[in-house]
Amino acid sequence: MEIKQLQQVEIMTDVVCDVCNQSTKLQFATLSAHWGYGSTHDGERYELQLCEKCLFYALATLKKERRDRLMFDENFDPASLDKFGLK
Ligand SMILES: [Zn+2]
Repeated sequence: MEIKQLQQVEIMTDVVCDVCNQSTKLQFATLSAHWGYGSTHDGERYELQLCEKCLFYALATLKKERRDRLMFDENFDPASLDKFGLK
């Protein structure tokens, strides 16, 4: 025998970007970390939800850092940065 009942269910209707405070319209990225034993930030958890613009700003910053660190490495191919982080 099935017993049915109406229930209220909480659903996510939006996510606000943690950087620019704008609506992501549910198109967002999550940047997260949970640092473990032996790390400088042992036990700390981080989670940021970012809009498309802010994620790509962060990605551009990281990409620049990688380019700066590896620019004199003879095995470094700058073209590899075109797909940096892309799966
Ligand atoms: Zn943003």
